[in-house]
Amino acid sequence: MPGKGAWLSMKNELLTDRAFVERVFREAYEIGLSSASRGTVASYIPELKKADPKAFGMYMMTDDGYSLAFGDCLERFSIQSVCKVIILAESLKLFGFKETFSHVMMEPSGDSFNSILKLDLASSRPYNPMINAGAIELVSLLVNKVGYDELLDETRALCMDPAIDLDESVYHSEFETGDRNRAIAYLLKSKGVLMGDPEKTLDLYFRMCSLSVNAKSLAGLGLVIANNGVDPFTGERLIKEEDVRTLKIIMFTCGMYDYSGKFGMNAGVPGKSGVGGGIVCAARGPMGIGFYGPALDAFGNSSGGVKAMVHISEKLRLHVFDYN
Ligand code: GLN
Repeated sequence: MPGKGAWLSMKNELLTDRAFVERVFREAYEIGLSSASRGTVASYIPELKKADPKAFGMYMMTDDGYSLAFGDCLERFSIQSVCKVIILAESLKLFGFKETFSHVMMEPSGDSFNSILKLDLASSRPYNPMINAGAIELVSLLVNKVGYDELLDETRALCMDPAIDLDESVYHSEFETGDRNRAIAYLLKSKGVLMGDPEKTLDLYFRMCSLSVNAKSLAGLGLVIANNGVDPFTGERLIKEEDVRTLKIIMFTCGMYDYSGKFGMNAGVPGKSGVGGGIVCAARGPMGIGFYGPALDAFGNSSGGVKAMVHISEKLRLHVFDYN
């Protein structure tokens, strides 16, 4: 009997036909590749402008070691907002559900990820941990308890990728141009809700956003989440079962910016994207899927990644409300 929130670890009989699975992923790759260059590479962090808009890669892995790799799946890029999943996981681990959600809400914001509007006008508690205000608030909690090195180790473990490291140039670029994030941190401080020193908080947040991953690392993170928080290859529990459930719900409802509703409707899996072009998805199998496509759509999601995931989900019946 699966435990609380264990739905993604339910077996998917469609996955046993590996020729079919490979065909579906190959088609998804072609779809993603052809729509990848339709978007625009993020430019508000100057270093991100250097990415090749035509790049596209995807990686899939399941708990029995089965994996598929396509295109630029080993190309390194900065994790950006995907780190918000790790920040939330760490906050749940160190402070628990109640304390964490006394600092942030669990509602989609309906505004862009770096908006300051609701924080100023509607609520001093950021709407959710997947927008900048929410992640910065949680980092302000974390900064008093963990250092960057510890969070880096956590990230490496959760992504099953010991090679993850800081991309110094992205970090400097974020630091130099992060005025909107500074505004958010200081607004939180002015409202008396920021829990740590604003500069230390921002430094840790910028570092987390600048970690260099690839589509394979994101597939690893997706797999750990889909596998209920356990690294399937070592058997080590990395995230508590109840915390994985929380992560999946927050990713599902808030992970894809203002496209979260439509992504939920069309792909139907917990996902999180970043402006570096990465998307992590946790799917039934249990299966982790990572995408890299730096050309972003109007919502800030990798255009190729979104299209590819919708195809995979439809063909492999991964939508969480399509199985029971
Ligand atoms: N580092 C980026 C920022 O704070 C992360 C945003 C994102 O990926 N959506 O603006």
